[in-house]
Amino acid sequence: MENKETTPKPAEAAAPRPHAGPHSGPPRRPGGRRFAPRRKVCRLCAEHIDLVDYKQAQIVKTFCTDTGKILSRRITGACAKHQRQIMRAVKINRNLSLMPYSG
Ligand SMILES: [Zn+2]
Repeated sequence: MENKETTPKPAEAAAPRPHAGPHSGPPRRPGGRRFAPRRKVCRLCAEHIDLVDYKQAQIVKTFCTDTGKILSRRITGACAKHQRQIMRAVKINRNLSLMPYSG
């Protein structure tokens, strides 16, 4: 018998709110970006990693989800060269059952 939160709360729906017009809140331009644009830089280029090896599982796994899916370039910001290498490394790792195909 643990009824700690049984105190009935009074309904606040009928309470009048001051300055609650239909256009309350910060003004937003139509079609404006919600996030400030940030220049994505390829992490592997920044760290001067020329070739991603499939044995470098720590690097490869940072570009994958927990379920084993390869994250897209839009998310990771990897350049085309490194994205190709990551893709290749992941596929080799999957074949060697070092990484899951799914799940
Ligand atoms: Zn790169």
